[in-house]
Amino acid sequence: MAAPPTVAAPPEAARSALLDAIATELPRLKVLTDEGDRESYRLDETAYLEAGLPLAVALPTETAEVATLVRLAAEHRIPVVPRGAGSGLSGGAAGIEGGLTIAFTQMTRILEIDHENLCVVTQPGIINADLKKAVAEEGLFYAPDPASYEMCSIGGNLGTNAGGLCCVKYGQTRDSVLGLEVVLADGSVIRTGGKNVKDVAGYALTHLFVGSQGTLGLITEATLRLRVAPPARSTLLAFFPSLDTSGDAVARLTASGIGLVTFELMDKPTIAAVDDWHHLGLDRDAEAMLLIESDLPPAAAAEELARAVAECEAAGASSTLLAQDPQEADWLRQARRLALRALERLGTVRMEDVGVPRSRVPELLRAIDDIARRHSVRCATFGHAGDGNLHPNFIFDHDDPRAEELTEATRAELYRAAIELGGTVTAEHGIGTSRREFLELQRGAGAVGVMRAIKTALDPLGILNPGRVV
Ligand SMILES: Cc1cc2nc3c(=O)[nH]c(=O)nc-3n(C[C@H](O)[C@H](O)[C@H](O)COP(=O)(O)OP(=O)(O)OC[C@H]3O[C@@H](n4cnc5c(N)ncnc54)[C@H](O)[C@@H]3O)c2cc1C
Repeated sequence: MAAPPTVAAPPEAARSALLDAIATELPRLKVLTDEGDRESYRLDETAYLEAGLPLAVALPTETAEVATLVRLAAEHRIPVVPRGAGSGLSGGAAGIEGGLTIAFTQMTRILEIDHENLCVVTQPGIINADLKKAVAEEGLFYAPDPASYEMCSIGGNLGTNAGGLCCVKYGQTRDSVLGLEVVLADGSVIRTGGKNVKDVAGYALTHLFVGSQGTLGLITEATLRLRVAPPARSTLLAFFPSLDTSGDAVARLTASGIGLVTFELMDKPTIAAVDDWHHLGLDRDAEAMLLIESDLPPAAAAEELARAVAECEAAGASSTLLAQDPQEADWLRQARRLALRALERLGTVRMEDVGVPRSRVPELLRAIDDIARRHSVRCATFGHAGDGNLHPNFIFDHDDPRAEELTEATRAELYRAAIELGGTVTAEHGIGTSRREFLELQRGAGAVGVMRAIKTALDPLGILNPGRVV
């Protein structure tokens, strides 16, 4: 199966014809065409990737407008980039030269909170934290919580199948999605599911669109699974004298089957960067730290964390510490969420995202250390250890002329190491543009051929986020 058609930068005539058609058919739609405005939609958070300047940025408020925009873009063969909050880390929402970016920032309405069926129906532009807050006010809980939850949108979470700090118990975004409304590449609109928690009618289209990074359709509405809000979390920190002992603790805790809700790792450079910024009094002599949480009722949580302490000590923890109260627990969790921003104070950070089967976390930690040493590059690692998902961050001085070359070399070695360990080149950030050349290495030509066949069937003109994923 050949690669789907790529869309060359559209000719000037097609660009102005599209803008005229939009103005005629959607006269009330907000469309940004000023160069300064468009510039701010060129990049996502993957700032080192090259990206194009969009022809225009449309800000629809409802599905019908999105459908018309996509139909017009198809008629004029103009590439379409769906965009949430632009916090992605694989270039998925970055601009395409002369393309139409459809930003969902005005589609933020919650359409229904359904207590009886424990679900919420929402537009995609709402920020994850705002959705969580709205349902929490009604005693309910939306589980997916990327570390970026205060800035990223539900549509972006669906686009990337985002992970986060409680996947270890509640799964990735995909595990909380019951149904979607999707605008297809010709502007038609389909529904893939709804409020049924069991529904096996036909192919699982909902799960096909989740994680497809805007290459198969634009999500305009989502029905998401809620839970009754769990009790406040009980929080444990465990410090380790070596990366090996922390990795062993990850493997032991996984095998123990304890149902932790948070299970995060930070290495020594990350501990120092976070502590320099937030002054939490962390053990800076430790080589690694695990942040471990339970969301069971207090007595059961105490029992769960006591078992976790025993596993950490058996792996060689140098000390363990329980958060004294919910406020201290919030600070610690927030500090972990801000780990990337803490590291960015040290230089230019290239954040990576690899995953391995959880028993192989110790080997992955050693492989990361080895790559950083051989290239003499500073590296700080944190991540969702309970999912086997680590984020090594290669850090360069702002004016380091070797930064680009070393970024390429370290990334390539890291991805190969993850694959050799039976892992993945991306556990939650997505292939986007940044990891495309490694997709086939991991999945094999046969599987990528199937992906391309799906892409070609759903988007024969290749206008939906071309050049991303496959
Ligand atoms: C500090 C920091 C911490 C982070 N922590 C995490 C983390 O813990 N876990 C994690 O998974 N990620 C994390 N990320 C990455 C990022 O926040 C997630 O990938 C998030 O899901 C992106 O959401 P967004 O709204 O910013 O989407 P965008 O970046 O705008 O888009 C992401 C992708 O989704 C597509 N898309 C957006 N909206 C739609 C739609 N309506 N329909 C179809 N496709 C759409 C886009 O085309 C693009 O391919 C982090 C990023 C930062 C900067």
